[in-house]
Amino acid sequence: MTGPDTLPWFWYRCRACHHSRASTWTTFPADLSGAACGSCRSTRITFYELATRAVIRLPRPLVPPTNRWTCCDCGGTGLTSSGDTCALCLGAGFL
Ligand SMILES: [Zn+2]
Ligand SMILES: [Zn+2]
Repeated sequence: MTGPDTLPWFWYRCRACHHSRASTWTTFPADLSGAACGSCRSTRITFYELATRAVIRLPRPLVPPTNRWTCCDCGGTGLTSSGDTCALCLGAGFL
């Protein structure tokens, strides 16, 4: 009787050389910076977690900064004191 523990947990496919292989990972590593294709060393690889069918594309896209600067001209409302669209932030309320 073969259990599911004989199957790989993760699988990866290289988007550079299209090499695909079972990963030796048993859990998803917290640090993915060293993950690369075992054939061409490309970091442009896609991981598949078989149990959850999760797909992780590497390298991960850079998360845009969430810090936004409240417009100092209108104070974040996007409107001037007379109710017009703020000319500095164009009504967005932040820069
Ligand atoms: Zn490769
Ligand atoms: Zn403004």
